[in-house]
Amino acid sequence: MMAETNLCTRCGLCCSGALFDFGPLTGEEVDQARADGLAVLEAEGEFGFALPCPALDGACCTAYATRPGTCRAYRCKLLRALEAEDLTVAEAMSHVEEARAIMAALTLQLPSGMTVTDLRRMRRRATAEDDAAPLMAPPHLMIALGMLDLVLDQHFRKASERQIMPRG
Ligand code: SF4
Ligand code: SF4
Repeated sequence: MMAETNLCTRCGLCCSGALFDFGPLTGEEVDQARADGLAVLEAEGEFGFALPCPALDGACCTAYATRPGTCRAYRCKLLRALEAEDLTVAEAMSHVEEARAIMAALTLQLPSGMTVTDLRRMRRRATAEDDAAPLMAPPHLMIALGMLDLVLDQHFRKASERQIMPRG
């Protein structure tokens, strides 16, 4: 268990907006999430919180004791593979380091105030079949985002999970 815990405290990719745009919340969790500084979203009676998460400090959660249930339950593909001993701690760490390095390089290239989540939204709008919005982000940012998603889809999540953090 120690190895898995260490992996997460050196990673934080599921909280940083690298893997997902937002996480789900139950109605009962909304007040605590707001108290912890999370950006609570509501649509059609469903609740969630926006990522990147403001409670993330480096790769650690500053709201650990009161974090939402989805954060308690979530285990990415890499963590589950480590727990199943399908790969070593060193192999898992190298995937974390690779993904974090790509995320950091992409974040450095973003205009001030823009997040990877914003960039993903722009890509979704630009590629939506029913939306003729032009591609607003520079191509080099889209290429870097594509590289990030490739590595994350391969080791951390299913490609179908790019938007919402699953409940576990
Ligand atoms: S992405 Fe996986 S390894 Fe990284 S912090 Fe989240 S659960 Fe842990
Ligand atoms: S509350 Fe903590 S565990 Fe949940 S997304 Fe934010 S930083 Fe991560």
